[in-house]
Amino acid sequence: MTPSSTLTAVDPRTGEPGESRPATPIAAIDSLAAAAAAAFADPALRDVARRAHALRDVAARLRADGERLRARFQAESGLPAGRAAGELERTSGQLEAFADVIEAGDQLEAIIDRADPQAVPIPRPDLRRMLVPIGPVAVFGASNFPFAFGVAGGDVAAALAAGCPVLVKGHPSQPGVNALVAEHVAAGIASAGLPSATFALVQGGSAELGAALVQAEPVRAVAFTGSTAGGRALFDVAARRPLPIPVYAEMGSVNPIVVTAGAIAARGDAIAASLVTAVTGAAGQLCTKPGVVLVPAGAEGDAWCADVAERLAASEPLVMLNERMRDALATQLEQLARQGGVRADGAAPRPRGPGFRLSAAAYQVAASQLARREELREERFGPFVLLARYGSDEELLATIASFDGQLATGLHADAATERELAARVADALAGRCGRLVFDGFPTGVAVSWAMQHGGPYPATTAPGETSVGMTATRRFLRPVCWQDAPQALLPPPLRDANPAGIWRRVDGRLTRDGI
Ligand code: NAP
Repeated sequence: MTPSSTLTAVDPRTGEPGESRPATPIAAIDSLAAAAAAAFADPALRDVARRAHALRDVAARLRADGERLRARFQAESGLPAGRAAGELERTSGQLEAFADVIEAGDQLEAIIDRADPQAVPIPRPDLRRMLVPIGPVAVFGASNFPFAFGVAGGDVAAALAAGCPVLVKGHPSQPGVNALVAEHVAAGIASAGLPSATFALVQGGSAELGAALVQAEPVRAVAFTGSTAGGRALFDVAARRPLPIPVYAEMGSVNPIVVTAGAIAARGDAIAASLVTAVTGAAGQLCTKPGVVLVPAGAEGDAWCADVAERLAASEPLVMLNERMRDALATQLEQLARQGGVRADGAAPRPRGPGFRLSAAAYQVAASQLARREELREERFGPFVLLARYGSDEELLATIASFDGQLATGLHADAATERELAARVADALAGRCGRLVFDGFPTGVAVSWAMQHGGPYPATTAPGETSVGMTATRRFLRPVCWQDAPQALLPPPLRDANPAGIWRRVDGRLTRDGI
């Protein structure tokens, strides 16, 4: 199939066509990547002050153009006004936060072990290590966060902060948002005096285009947010390159949540209300949406599940990001409702108009079935939750053990009466995920130093990394150790004097002092 030369947005609220933007020809990828490699070689990109200036300038430009950006965001995602405003602020805030990080030199992880001629069994040389940028990075923007994981989103901000040029493929559902945001990023890069090829937008709706980006020889790392199939396909493309490169893909997750009998007795109403908010917010199109909730069998659990299902059924049909996503979920739910052992209580939600709407729903299944049947544990992206009923602590723990890697998990228990059970369950959940939430749901992902937004495969392809938070720059950096280097040949952050006063680990101790 020949890829289309234009991309046309469709308003998910109405189904009406919106803005059209030219697609990037596949033939252009190699020259864009070569230009990014030239930008990487330009000393301007090593200048922290320029990079920090660029990040803050882009943030300011996004805020200043907020009205126009928010309108386009809503027209191409169907997400509500509050979300558009919150996400724009989050996007600007994370650009600024990365500027602060690099000014402080915190991303460098500078370590100095001074020479020790007395060391046994052999004398130790002078060793100085820090992280350096990896090279041009290809980013695939997410459909469900058109700003925050888009063209100026977390992956792009982290890569630019690290000192890497970026080629970003905007999500094909949102070509107008991508183009507007890209104008601001390009302007911010120019105002900082960085090479223009530090940043390039790639637009298109074909797997060939994405594969070409990953195959481009100068590209040194890939960041992706989206489906398991897409992330895995790009991971495989990267592994087959003559020079394989890392792919940091953040993919599907059902984020299992455990609710205990004690929690239902103590505050079942509040937990049900916040679960419904977590499942319906953004029409459930969050990688951290609780997709499976483990609920005790028995009368109290029955009543609680009925309450959740009623609250979901009472909500208005929700606008989903695009037709493909809406129809995919409707088909998945229809098939799931027909599976043996699954209780759907009525017909599966059907696609509704205007635009791309679907009603929220909850189905039930025995936890023992969920543990045995892999297809029941698949991600169902959108306003849906599977309530899995467990009859004993052992069944609960066996069910948790059946899950593959997850981005997040959660535990609602009664701390006063269930301490031992809570400890066992928390331990089991932490063994499966990147983040464990107590007495809450993992939908919100704060941008901070301690945040971990990642997890064992298949939640991601790189369980040691995070795609949110200040340590997200690590994916685009690599360590280099200078051994017995003369002072003048060391990078300034590793020189004795510590000219910028950054935090360094000197002989095992964190300090900002010079040597
Ligand atoms: P997607 O289909 O994985 O697409 C994401 C990006 O990757 C797009 O730019 C897409 O471009 C590209 N891509 C996908 N498969 C590719 C392939 N085989 N080769 C090259 N490029 C490829 O994700 P989506 O459109 O956002 O949503 C589809 C499904 O992904 C959802 O229904 C949901 O299950 C899941 N999803 C998960 C998350 C999460 O955070 N975990 C977020 C969003 C979506 P092209 O369309 O041009 O190929």
